[in-house]
Amino acid sequence: METYPCIFCKIAAGSAPAKIVYQDAEITAFYDRHPRAPVHVLIIPNRHIDSANDLSESDAALIGRMFLTAVRLAGDHRIAENGYRLILNTGRDGGQTVPHLHLHLLGGQRIHLGLNH
Ligand code: AMP
Ligand code: ZN
Repeated sequence: METYPCIFCKIAAGSAPAKIVYQDAEITAFYDRHPRAPVHVLIIPNRHIDSANDLSESDAALIGRMFLTAVRLAGDHRIAENGYRLILNTGRDGGQTVPHLHLHLLGGQRIHLGLNH
């Protein structure tokens, strides 16, 4: 995994710089380098998974932990009450630019990215 030539794999392995806000054996969370909101955190699996299309049943607990980590980090950043947006872009039409699964946590202001009414 550490030798996988992927920027998010390198961040998870500690071999590329990032402001890591949380890490455990399965998950790393770090601040997006081009934040689109006052709070913009990316939550990734440490293991390389290209996109949501590559998930299987055995990843159900991992995905659950990614979401729960995002919710907990929203609380830690004091944005839970006002609300936030979780975004998981998949593939070209979904706007995914880094081919390592990642969940965006965006908050701290009204979010005008993605679906709005
Ligand atoms: P997406 O468009 O959903 O693939 O989102 C990729 C996100 O990763 C973008 O918001 C980028 O700003 C962010 N990003 C790319 N490279 C890095 C990096 N080295 N450190 C932190 N964030 C990054
Ligand atoms: Zn990767």
